[in-house]
Amino acid sequence: MTTSTVATTSTVAAYVASAAKAPLERTTIERRPVSEHDVLIDIKYAGICHSDIHQVQEGWGEAIFPMVPGHEIAGVVAEVGPGVTKYAVGDRVGVGVMVDSCRECANCRAGLEQYCFHGMTGTYNDRDRGGEVTYGGYSTRIVVDENYVVRIPDSLPLEVAAPLLCAGITTYSPLRHWNVGPGTKVAVVGMGGLGHVAVKLAHAMGAEVTVLSQSLRKKDDGLRLGADHYYATSDPTTFDDLAASFDVILSTVSAPLDLAAYFALLKTGGTFANVGLPEQAMSVEPFSLIDGRKTLAGSMIGGIAETQEMLDFCGQHGLGAEIELIDADQINTAYDRVLGSDVRYRFVIDTATI
Ligand code: NAP
Ligand code: ZN
Ligand code: ZN
Repeated sequence: MTTSTVATTSTVAAYVASAAKAPLERTTIERRPVSEHDVLIDIKYAGICHSDIHQVQEGWGEAIFPMVPGHEIAGVVAEVGPGVTKYAVGDRVGVGVMVDSCRECANCRAGLEQYCFHGMTGTYNDRDRGGEVTYGGYSTRIVVDENYVVRIPDSLPLEVAAPLLCAGITTYSPLRHWNVGPGTKVAVVGMGGLGHVAVKLAHAMGAEVTVLSQSLRKKDDGLRLGADHYYATSDPTTFDDLAASFDVILSTVSAPLDLAAYFALLKTGGTFANVGLPEQAMSVEPFSLIDGRKTLAGSMIGGIAETQEMLDFCGQHGLGAEIELIDADQINTAYDRVLGSDVRYRFVIDTATI
């Protein structure tokens, strides 16, 4: 343990996809030296987000290989650069979907670094400001600028906190932005990684929460996590029963939806907030929005300050993800299960097994 700058790179173990759709395999990668404002983090746990799978499969377009996915990182600070003021060795910290941004544009200055006009730097499948490829959390260590690191409250075990770094902030930010709280009726579409956290958050915010899932298979869990109602979208009567019911619908679905059917569930003036990122476009039938002055909106993760706010909120409410802790050699099986909507409700890798 040292607080001095180490000028050399370090070799760390990681799980890597060598090409699009390739199974992930163990290898080693280089991490950059710990410079002035950097924090070296011993990664303890890394969540598996459906976005990892979209990118390994090049579902969103060309990606950078070899790829080390993982943007739900929870760990402990192992070393800090000499200019670091926010963190010390031993601190429990997290890293989410971005590790840098320009820091100067209006959005960066407003705490909306995820919408940086010059592009945020993704934790993986991206190039940093110096042009080096970024590698994510399916590894044992990572070096990140302190300004893109957040603190994990002591009340949250690291393994249930890890998924909050993406699933948590991606659902917290739109729930806050569209004022979900007491008196609001919100529907969460999809009871997967993002969806189950959204149910917990919206319940903790005081809203009346309905889950819209493909089936009733996960109904007991949904109600236990805080949903007031749970419906199957495979049952056509659901769309009749719930017509004009919701102030906000938050869709976490990873596949294209029949949007008009969901807009019909909004009250007049309601908002369909989409965070899911299907690999195919979704079409909008204009009449389905104008009748009732409805809004179709989108949202991407959240800024650094808001991510810290979300973690503190979760700490106060004792709110973490429901996880299946896996060894690293189960990552490929876990991917198959996520693709089959068979995740309860986030796979988290114990990085000690990498
Ligand atoms: P996930 O764990 O796989 O959950 C997605 C859920 O969507 C499934 O559990 C399933 O829920 C439902 N679903 C899947 N296929 C469906 C279909 N054909 N029709 C209807 N429902 C379907 O995935 P996740 O990690 O939560 O991520 C969800 C999506 O959000 C992904 O596309 C991901 O890339 C995206 N994402 C976006 C952001 C952002 O910043 N906007 C951040 C992270 C992730 P039921 O079984 O309950 O139906
Ligand atoms: Zn994610
Ligand atoms: Zn910027």
